[in-house]
Amino acid sequence: MNKNSCKKKLFVISGSSGVGKGTVLKGFLTKNPNFMLSISCTTRAPRRGEVDGVNYFFLTKEEFQNCIDNNKFLEWAEFAGNRYGTKKKYINQCLEEGKDIILEIDTQGALQVKKQMPEAVLIFIYPPSIETLENRLRGRHTEDESTIQRRLQEVKIELERAENFDYKVVNDDLDNAIAELENIIVGEQEKC
Ligand code: 5GP
Repeated sequence: MNKNSCKKKLFVISGSSGVGKGTVLKGFLTKNPNFMLSISCTTRAPRRGEVDGVNYFFLTKEEFQNCIDNNKFLEWAEFAGNRYGTKKKYINQCLEEGKDIILEIDTQGALQVKKQMPEAVLIFIYPPSIETLENRLRGRHTEDESTIQRRLQEVKIELERAENFDYKVVNDDLDNAIAELENIIVGEQEKC
């Protein structure tokens, strides 16, 4: 079958905080600019350098609740004290326009997407070890100690949920991880 006549797939990438999934994804997107990265909504405050409408749509708690009440989210989840969600309208529009789309969301959200769209492909990015993860999380100096502790607690739960994912990639070497991600995505697209 002609690749262009295939129904577009939704790729969902999850991984624990500090695993470097953003860097792996950035590497993949640079090599594959035809992919769109979904922009999520969040109630978290912007970190230094983050821009509204680019990194996230930063919403107040009330605005976020309003979206939940009006059934605007494909999925949403609470993660380490903040809420994050993916707007249905944005995803449907991209799929209708025939765009390849990637969501970078937590494991709770990923499993919600799979329930609603079983054709979605879930990919989990693993750290080489928990110690590496903790060092990376501390090294980026973007969170205070209690937030780091909270995020480390989430790691165990995330690893359990990852058992239900379609693919796993270990980020021990950046170039290898990008290549592996690319193989998975290209392989899935060729399946049609
Ligand atoms: P951060 O605060 O570090 O940007 O993101 C924290 C977690 O929220 C990450 O695991 C990230 O993948 C996840 N996340 C980002 N956007 C969404 C979303 O739209 N939905 C869900 N469920 N998780 C998200």
